[in-house]
Amino acid sequence: MPKTGSKHPAPRRFRKLLVANRGEIAIRVFRACTEMGIQTVAIYSEQDRLHLHRYKADEAYLVGVGKEPVRAYLDFEEIIELALAREVDAIHPGYGFLSENADFARACEAAGIVFVGPSSQVLESMGDKVYARDVAIRAGVPVIPGTDGAVQTQAQALAFAAEAGYPLIVKAAMGGGGRGMSIVRDEAGLRDALARSQAEAQAAFGSAKVFIERYLEGPKHIEVQILGDRHGNRVHLFERDCSVQRRHQKVVEIAPAFTLSEAQRQALCADALKICAAVDYSNAGTVEFLLDRQGRHYFIEVNPRIQVEHTITELITGRDLVQAQIRVAEGHRLDSDAIRIPSQQAVERRGCAIQVRITTEDPANNFAPDTGQITAFRAGEGFGIRLDAGSGFEGAVVSPHYDSLLIKVSAFALDFDQAAAKALRALREFRIRGVKTNIPFLENVLQNETFLKGECDTTFIEDHPELFR
Ligand code: ADP
Repeated sequence: MPKTGSKHPAPRRFRKLLVANRGEIAIRVFRACTEMGIQTVAIYSEQDRLHLHRYKADEAYLVGVGKEPVRAYLDFEEIIELALAREVDAIHPGYGFLSENADFARACEAAGIVFVGPSSQVLESMGDKVYARDVAIRAGVPVIPGTDGAVQTQAQALAFAAEAGYPLIVKAAMGGGGRGMSIVRDEAGLRDALARSQAEAQAAFGSAKVFIERYLEGPKHIEVQILGDRHGNRVHLFERDCSVQRRHQKVVEIAPAFTLSEAQRQALCADALKICAAVDYSNAGTVEFLLDRQGRHYFIEVNPRIQVEHTITELITGRDLVQAQIRVAEGHRLDSDAIRIPSQQAVERRGCAIQVRITTEDPANNFAPDTGQITAFRAGEGFGIRLDAGSGFEGAVVSPHYDSLLIKVSAFALDFDQAAAKALRALREFRIRGVKTNIPFLENVLQNETFLKGECDTTFIEDHPELFR
């Protein structure tokens, strides 16, 4: 590093960027652009016509008229047509919606618009967990014992179970968002789960492809942040501990994973880079691992996009990941003045950061999503608190059409205990009326002894029903 003699053209400067997304991540990207002198374009659905992200961009356009609410952010022909008409240079997809859609990335390229993310080939290949597993195996990175490729028949599933034993987890190859997984503990369960998982995967992800892995009891979820340019240079920005999950979805994240030894950290980050090198990964991405109770790590998947929890990596490294994404997409090298990462050693970290996701879900009622108008809103602020909000203001309407993330609170301090104290203090300052939120639950997590010792694994929430009160 760095490599020279690249076949890529000189960097271009984006004048205008459209965000094909909504809510907090759209606003996050607009802020990054404004600081860089790039004009911003928002799209919004009819249901989002009063939503904050619309007002935070230089231009905003209604899309998806007469369609289902989510289609506004998914039907990419309309988005690309709009981008062309408005002379947009680049599209940032955020997370969710079109962010991992290889067809969309290709359509952007074909229209002469830069897609801010990895190449369409990488999106295509990493979207398939079976393929990604194979890449990891070939790169010499440990994976959880699992089937060789997809499983089609009961006989294949039973043959694997006979060899590997129970418990097992049947996973949708194209799955995401914690969905499309079933845990099986015996043969009857496996017989039942296979056909069901295939049907569910087909319905939810448009592909019935499933595979089977050993189910690890009480693992930790640790993920490594990667950043690569389009010239073959790549660094990691350390790791996050995302073990506090509900239904396989992250609720609280911590950077760094402070209970890891330096040797474990180095091994994880090196393995993440090996996988990215194998697919010539560029732009921001996350390589996810599970750690078993013996501290051994296993690759599970690559998320080829910016993640919800990128804020805490930014806090401990001081690096603006969204701006780096945009610079890389413009064609800049990591060691350029635009990005200033001449080597891995240039990525430093300091302190500890915790992100909690405030959602409009009622913890006392099995986290049922709540909707309605916010009648009062006051946020917790102050030293060490970063807020990323989508619709946190008085008068905002929380609709049932989109996800329930209201505001992300990221706390930074020199150590984990202080970061946890700041996050708790900030949560206690919040006043939100009109919709129920998960704040009482998050406050319980932040005071829990297991959490404060850094000992949470992915079953922490289900093992502690008292957190819901
Ligand atoms: P998704 O793409 O839906 O996020 P992942 O493969 O990243 O799915 O897994 C999400 C979560 O599911 C993990 O963080 C972990 O809690 C659980 N999980 C996945 N695979 C296993 C496994 N083999 N054993 C135990 N838990 C697992």
